[in-house]
Amino acid sequence: MLGAIIGDIIGSRHEFHPTNNYDFHLFTNRCFFTDDTICTFGVADALVKSEPYAKSIHSWCQKYPHAGYGGHFYGWVHTANPQPYGSFGNGSAMRVSPIGWWFFTAEEVLEEAKKTAECSHNHPFGIAGAQAVAIAIHDCLKLRRTHHGGSISRDDILNIGLRRAIQFYESDHTKFHLNIEHHRNIFDETCQGTVPVALAIILQSQGFEDAVRRAVSLGADADTLGAIVGSIAEALWGIPEWIKQKALTYLDPEMLALLKDFRHKLHLRRKKYEEEQEEKMQQHMLLMRWKLGLGNMNDIMFDTPTPSPQKTRIATADMMEITPISSEDKSICTDWKYGYISHEQMDILKMGHIPESQEDHWFMYFNPKDMTLHYIRS
Ligand SMILES: [Mg+2]
Repeated sequence: MLGAIIGDIIGSRHEFHPTNNYDFHLFTNRCFFTDDTICTFGVADALVKSEPYAKSIHSWCQKYPHAGYGGHFYGWVHTANPQPYGSFGNGSAMRVSPIGWWFFTAEEVLEEAKKTAECSHNHPFGIAGAQAVAIAIHDCLKLRRTHHGGSISRDDILNIGLRRAIQFYESDHTKFHLNIEHHRNIFDETCQGTVPVALAIILQSQGFEDAVRRAVSLGADADTLGAIVGSIAEALWGIPEWIKQKALTYLDPEMLALLKDFRHKLHLRRKKYEEEQEEKMQQHMLLMRWKLGLGNMNDIMFDTPTPSPQKTRIATADMMEITPISSEDKSICTDWKYGYISHEQMDILKMGHIPESQEDHWFMYFNPKDMTLHYIRS
């Protein structure tokens, strides 16, 4: 989300004084935060305080009543009871970035992005723009984490980072070919005219600064395109520390406090989420143990402290009628990839497994003659 704010601040002085100079000064004393930053804080504050997006965005905009809002949105800000007005302006896309960080599944990201748009930009294009940017942030963030700070190829950016975002505009993402030059010096403030350009810029860029420079020097809606590109670029590459520190000097104390609060609460959320994921993984391991005959389904379902069964009967081959599997299909994968089997567990395994209930899919016995565990699908 800081990436959006930085893109806005850097682009601010070029919104009405466009530049095509890629090597422009990033920060000057004529830079300032605009509506893109304020609305982004509106969304972030709604998340931190668990408030409705409309209320929070409206309240932040009213604190800064003349921050460069577009005509219709200006009316939305300056009314007591704001209602959606069918907008497909790029305002829904520039303010959505906190969603991509705050929620950890694609379903939640898309659902919440839709909600942030709906309070004003409830046209399908307005909603799609917000969802495309939010899912791009979510996917790029995941992509960066899997690369552990290493360089990310353009193919990975296209096929993993931006695939779902592009699919809002082009069903086959590999056919997404947008010529950015056709958008040079054209001020288009619609979602459908801005978001695909932002995605195309990300695809051409090598890093955060490069992406923001390309966006702002396109001579289009510089601050908003800067904000959208900045928000995705942050997720993909991170922000150079000096740019981060410089940008923070343009913000008000209340904004800095919210940034800190957002970061802190996000950290706690992520920790909790990761713990839940870890627990799910443990459950998965229990399931694998069960598949190997080291437990039974009831132990897993009812979460008993030890999934190892207390076996009293040793399974032998003559207990069941066994039909060999066909010769064309004789390998199975047990998915065992977590840890190793202890001697104690091996002793239990050697007792085999006699199915006890409908859910118990395996009959298993150990043949001491060939020292082999035999698994039979029951
Ligand atoms: Mg603006």
